[in-house]
Amino acid sequence: MLIDKMYINVAQLLKEPVGSSRRYQIDESLGTDDINSVKGEVTLIRTNRGIMVKGEMTAGVTVICSRCLKLIDYKVNYDFEEECLPSVSTSEALSLPDQTDNITIDESHMLDLSETIRQYTLLTIPAKPLCRPDCAGICPSCGHDLNQGPCQCPSHTYDRRWSKLVRLGKENKT
Ligand SMILES: [Zn+2]
Ligand SMILES: [Zn+2]
Repeated sequence: MLIDKMYINVAQLLKEPVGSSRRYQIDESLGTDDINSVKGEVTLIRTNRGIMVKGEMTAGVTVICSRCLKLIDYKVNYDFEEECLPSVSTSEALSLPDQTDNITIDESHMLDLSETIRQYTLLTIPAKPLCRPDCAGICPSCGHDLNQGPCQCPSHTYDRRWSKLVRLGKENKT
């Protein structure tokens, strides 16, 4: 079953016995925070306190290559597991200490997955993404994209000692 905007009505599931479950396919474009698309499957399982949400997701994000600074489309995969509790305005609910980090189910029994999925997606993006594993980066002097071939600057790849050896090597060859 395909869900709309990552809101799931769990009124029925909450009436069912512990252990009952439902599966949903997610195929959404978030259009925020450079997250282009989110696809995957979530399983909701009725627990004694609320509902356990397990997801296996693939998200498409736009990131900047840490070497050549080009915008790239990147795919991330992750699993998540969160328990969400019905939001009830009794003093009983307030006494639960770790409630704030969970997904909540609002008064109309709608469970909103978008924030959780957004956060997990952002957490999974690597700190230094690359457009490809062997990205050559840009020249630190002229800013030329070295993936499109070398620039006219003197070589930066070696420090001075090495460039001397390289020069000697080249001289020996000629
Ligand atoms: Zn790159
Ligand atoms: Zn250059």
